[in-house]
Amino acid sequence: MKTITKSTCCYCGVGCGVLIESENGQIIGVQGDPDHPANFGRLCTKGLTLAQTAQSQTGRALYPELRLSRDAQRQRTDWDSALDTVAARFAGIVQQHGPDAVAFYVSGQLLTEDYYVFNKLAKGLIGTNNIDTNSRLCMSSSVTAYKLALGADGPPTCYEDLELADCVLLAGSNMAYAHPVLFRRLEAAKAARGAKWIVVDPRRTDTAALADLHLQIQPGTDVALFNGMLHHLIWEGLIAADYIAAHTEGFAALKALVRDYTPRMAAEICGILEADLIQAAELFGRSPASLSLYCMGLNQSAHGTDKNLALINLHLASQQIGRPGAGPFSLTGQPNAMGGREVGGMATMLAAHRDIQNPEHRAEVARFWGVERLSDIPGTPAVALFDALKSGQIKAVFIACTNPAHSMPDLNTVREALQTAEFVVLQEAFAHTDTAAYADVLLPASSWGEKVGTVTNSERRISRVRAAVAAPGEARHDWWIATEVARRMEMLLRPGLPTLFPYADPESVFNEHRALTVGRDLDIAGLSYALLEQAGPQQWPLPQGQLHGQARRYTDGVFATASGQAKFHATPYKPLAEPTNARYPFHLLTGRLRDQWHGMSRTGRLPQLFSHTPEPSLSMHPLDAERRGFKAGDLLRVSSKRGQLVLPLQISDEVSSGSVFAAMHWNGQFLNSGGINEASIGKVDGKSFQPELKHAAVRVEPAELP
Ligand code: SF4
Repeated sequence: MKTITKSTCCYCGVGCGVLIESENGQIIGVQGDPDHPANFGRLCTKGLTLAQTAQSQTGRALYPELRLSRDAQRQRTDWDSALDTVAARFAGIVQQHGPDAVAFYVSGQLLTEDYYVFNKLAKGLIGTNNIDTNSRLCMSSSVTAYKLALGADGPPTCYEDLELADCVLLAGSNMAYAHPVLFRRLEAAKAARGAKWIVVDPRRTDTAALADLHLQIQPGTDVALFNGMLHHLIWEGLIAADYIAAHTEGFAALKALVRDYTPRMAAEICGILEADLIQAAELFGRSPASLSLYCMGLNQSAHGTDKNLALINLHLASQQIGRPGAGPFSLTGQPNAMGGREVGGMATMLAAHRDIQNPEHRAEVARFWGVERLSDIPGTPAVALFDALKSGQIKAVFIACTNPAHSMPDLNTVREALQTAEFVVLQEAFAHTDTAAYADVLLPASSWGEKVGTVTNSERRISRVRAAVAAPGEARHDWWIATEVARRMEMLLRPGLPTLFPYADPESVFNEHRALTVGRDLDIAGLSYALLEQAGPQQWPLPQGQLHGQARRYTDGVFATASGQAKFHATPYKPLAEPTNARYPFHLLTGRLRDQWHGMSRTGRLPQLFSHTPEPSLSMHPLDAERRGFKAGDLLRVSSKRGQLVLPLQISDEVSSGSVFAAMHWNGQFLNSGGINEASIGKVDGKSFQPELKHAAVRVEPAELP
């Protein structure tokens, strides 16, 4: 008999609702859920092919594997042996070297319930804040900027604002590829209402091609652009002086800074026309409602927080915030990057948006969990985590649902770290990722269509994820595996005490999580699996006694800072972490393709998803190719100070002369290298610790054929 199961797409942060059709234990079809408020039935090519990717079970991790020494091959084992080994090795290292000698590296693909258990295992049981996530590579600059400027993490906006905006500023976002269903909504709104689009991107992407104004800036010059736009708004009287006086702090210092960023000077830094910069400022400042949508182009930068802050400055100064159709809207990359932050699953935060540095916050969580204390030592964020693994400061790492040997910057360092580590655990649905080669223990995890829990999308909306079929082989759910490891470690680290992990199912984890949010900005005490069943996906906050979540924040001009006022930040423009030079003369830009997702562990299974872009390539401007005598299809070696890879040339005027572009998806399974991160740089933003994955200085030369 056919069954329909309501769930949520597992790819991007749009968080589209899906209807999974299954029969005889097989997923046989997937359609968009017409009732889901993110997509109203639409799906993109990735979502539409979810059934086929789920049916392809090739390469799934089906049973636990264990190796007894670094030189040996992993062998199949049973769950008890695998879990006991993980618990004993981790507990042993903690007892010998202290809690900060171990670390967890998890994923924005995990469900909120999975994340909660991992976070409690690290911070509550072991007593280390060394738990970070691949969301560090994705969202941490926008999180940090929201907190610094508005007082709390999370966007003040909602998807409905896409339809209500008169001016849309898309910065560092190829939304047509990375958030396709939202882009369709934006296109429909433009057709209906004539909203003007300004796209800020060093590449002429498919998003930029549809813009009213494309500002093709030099890589990394976003702060200069936003400061120049603000200069124009101030000196043309397009700022909201009353709003600034009543609801913000720090404007005088910002005004003094941007005095120097005349449109001419800013446009020179950005490599664009002064008239275009002025037109952008006029459109943004004079439109009744201006919305900015931004993503990795701002976040994945050694100055990512400043780029976000400079953009938020524009919104605050012109009161383009707290109103329908207006606000700074950071688009979430991963399906549950926001849910992971809600439970505090990062090295720099605690549960429910609490801070590690705040003694009251630590005491609240410790009391709630029933542990003596939480560590006040900040955890080690992603890039530093692998550096510490390489140096031996961290001795064991537990990786869940992510592939750092492909997705982290500077892969030579990451591979060396995984090789050097005393003990590596990998919890994964797929057995042959780049990272799996380094795992001492492989714990097979269930995947999309098999799991139960919740995720939070880009507009703070929590949706249910439901299972349509059983996991294959002996694969188990992520929350269950983390709970079982935790219970075994408890017996070694706090014998005789009642368990901290009394969970029977994901709902019991969710109920504990929501109780910990009471009184916080993301309070979801009023939300339950029953309410999600009855009323559908809901936005936070949703405190006790309310039946629906809140669409927009700060509509009353009261912000989440201690003073209630939003804070301007004077952000000077700083050059790229790695400028080009005579030896490495090209800007290497990275990005995503329309039909692929991350390291292609799912999308790489379907031939039809290669029809749009069949193979990896390096895009280069025709003038640069001609000057060097390169022809389309030539094999070129792309080298940075850290590593190299070989790609065929694609000649394209989408990139400016002086820049080259490569997609980030292809990995060791598809290339004779780990992919574009062989060349990328591990330099991080000093505030958010997010690495500069979007840019590196490289040289390009003909590759010798073997
Ligand atoms: Fe899935 Fe994102 Fe496509 Fe929606 S837009 S179907 S969430 S990949």
